Amino acid sequence: MGEYELRCLECGMRIQDTYTNRCPRGCDALLMSVYADNLRIRKDIGIWKFYDWLPVRDTKTVRKIRTIVPDTAPVTYLSDGLGKELGIRNLYISFNGFWPERCAFMRSCTFKELEAICTLARVEEQTSKTLVLASAGNTARSFAQVFSAARKPVVLVVPSINIRRVWTTVEVPSSVILVSLRGDYTDAIRFASHLTECSSACDLINEGGVRNIARRDGLGIIILDALLQIRRMPDHYFQAVGSGVGAIGVYEMAYRACRRFTENSIPHMHLAQNLPFAPMFSAWRARRNVIIADDMRNADACIKEMYADVLSNKNPPYSIKGGVYDVLSATDGEMYGIKNSEARAAQKLFECVEGIDIDPAASIAVAALVNAVERGIVKKNDYVLLNITGGGYQRLNEEHLTCLLHKTTTIISADPSNVEDVLVELQECLHNPAIARV
Ligand SMILES: *Cc1c(COP(=O)(O)O)cnc(C)c1O
Ligand SMILES: [Zn+2]
Repeated sequence: MGEYELRCLECGMRIQDTYTNRCPRGCDALLMSVYADNLRIRKDIGIWKFYDWLPVRDTKTVRKIRTIVPDTAPVTYLSDGLGKELGIRNLYISFNGFWPERCAFMRSCTFKELEAICTLARVEEQTSKTLVLASAGNTARSFAQVFSAARKPVVLVVPSINIRRVWTTVEVPSSVILVSLRGDYTDAIRFASHLTECSSACDLINEGGVRNIARRDGLGIIILDALLQIRRMPDHYFQAVGSGVGAIGVYEMAYRACRRFTENSIPHMHLAQNLPFAPMFSAWRARRNVIIADDMRNADACIKEMYADVLSNKNPPYSIKGGVYDVLSATDGEMYGIKNSEARAAQKLFECVEGIDIDPAASIAVAALVNAVERGIVKKNDYVLLNITGGGYQRLNEEHLTCLLHKTTTIISADPSNVEDVLVELQECLHNPAIARV
């Protein structure tokens, strides 16, 4: 019960987890968690129903975190409005956001809250160090919400232009620290890893991004919840991707579930990006397993034009063993490049027929589904799971007060070249939180 180990997808080495994110032999491959095969659905609330397939060992940890975030879970339901509109009888929606009428209570309004909760559980059991995380905004918001509620320290590195996306509905302790970085998301990722490499004194640990099994397995809950509701695997899975962490996590969990319940097969993965910046779409269209310069021409200008710029990762885990290319290949999947105008139209349609506001990124997935139906890739009797990765912001505002992190907690402004200075400041903040308050 609760036991798991890690396996390198390249060399097969088995590893005991100590918040390990890389193969000790240096393989350029993901580590995957290996759980006991007999998944039980526990009589529990929220995501803890699936606790046997999450990287948590101890029921004490589960109990502790469950009291902090009791009701976070994806909600899978059979669509009435959009299904009719598109002529698909078995369209299921996995709603990840805030929508109390459907029992959806993610107060940070995206599926990244699942990643945050599972990472909190993994940190709680595996390390005493402080986590450092890079984010374009949505991940930082989820981690801020969950780590604040747990009063657990975390350092969030966010491009300064995106810090308005980082807010919470709970009080933020001073050990939740925001580093506002001049630069873009890719700079933030680089800065976060420099910080942890130089930090021997201050005990920081890199969260790990796609290499963090807690993030992938946390998102994998989406397919387990769908399986429980639909009572079979969907034929198709649709999601908007920036890095592809969610898609990889869902694929891995579907793989485990299909070994456990052998009458099922893994869904075709339909992944969508937002034009004009769509490097994985561009590489996959050419059936290349690497992203080349040609896939990202005028990247900065293109990113500025995106409707859903949370999808703007310049270095996604596409070629890495176990990454997006492998997931698409293994499932006979498809990639979509969605224009802003298509996304806006899809968003309007969804909000009108389903009755809840959605994140611009989620509308990219809706537009991909519309496109797949038009092209006959999805047939009217197929079982489809559409992942609405974020939504309910307006609904949340009717119910909760939110406060912007940069108005309430410790904030450090930084330049990409400032690693050393920021380390000194961080050390002061983490060891002397009272002084650090602005
Ligand atoms: C982050 C995010 C995505 C993309 O997820 P990746 O795991 O980066 O591919 C999609 N939708 C929303 C709302 C997001 O916040
Ligand atoms: Zn290895």
